[in-house]
Amino acid sequence: MPELPEVETVRRGLQPAMERARFAKVELRRRDLRWPLPKDFEKRLTGQTVEGLGRRAKYLLADLSSGDVLLMHLGMSGSFRVRRNGETFLGDPRYFEMAKDEKHDHVVFRMSNGATVTFNDPRRFGSMKLVPRAKLEQEPLLRDLGPEPLGNEFDAALLAKACAGKKTSLKAALSDQRVVAGLGNIYVCEALFRARLSPKRQASTIAERTGAPNERAVALVDAIKAVLKDAIAAGGSSLRDHRRTDGALGYFQHNFLVYDREGEPCPNCKGKIKRIVQGGRSTFYCPNCQK
Ligand SMILES: [Zn+2]
Repeated sequence: MPELPEVETVRRGLQPAMERARFAKVELRRRDLRWPLPKDFEKRLTGQTVEGLGRRAKYLLADLSSGDVLLMHLGMSGSFRVRRNGETFLGDPRYFEMAKDEKHDHVVFRMSNGATVTFNDPRRFGSMKLVPRAKLEQEPLLRDLGPEPLGNEFDAALLAKACAGKKTSLKAALSDQRVVAGLGNIYVCEALFRARLSPKRQASTIAERTGAPNERAVALVDAIKAVLKDAIAAGGSSLRDHRRTDGALGYFQHNFLVYDREGEPCPNCKGKIKRIVQGGRSTFYCPNCQK
């Protein structure tokens, strides 16, 4: 599943193709993704200029000249392909083989700058929705999301306040979209390893009784920001490198220190990385380094 750094890399890859360009033509190969597309989807997009392409958690938000915002989510297997002058390919390499199959091309945007942006999604958990900008704050998909992990407002004080009094595990707290938006299982595991905190530790232990942050909260926020920034930088470098060849994006997998490394040596202490199941999802950690 594409995680926040992949979505951010996709956003940066789509920017030159979409920003300040108009939708010249919108082609729908089918009208149902995760949910049905609005009946007037093509009509509301065609002729509109994309004034900016932003991101909130794992949603891409294209601001249109009409006052609408186009929300796009990659779901489990969604990817975008950009073709311009018959060359560039853009997509997540882990879905590269699937994304090549044109029968899963569901939405095609022909932009006024000559770029063709194709949304491919074999499993169709992805989604697109049009929301008037004035109603974005009440949008059900976005309104309950907690702070953006790379945003300035997300700091140790805010995280400690959200975790104070919580009897759940740190893993569960960080996986809760209301505590911090869009972190995802992989980056929760990686951040806890970097902060040397056990995923089983009670969430409330990163706060003092008053709700003020302790040194664990500071280490955890630093680790969350660092792990996401590193992943985005890795995606960004592959974006540059691959533009000239096949244009594929985002080889983040090899950067993981603990995720999906059960039984392998811990990069820090050489002990064995352990896998446990929390809330139905696998957690990978080093019981020796993470307390
Ligand atoms: Zn270790």
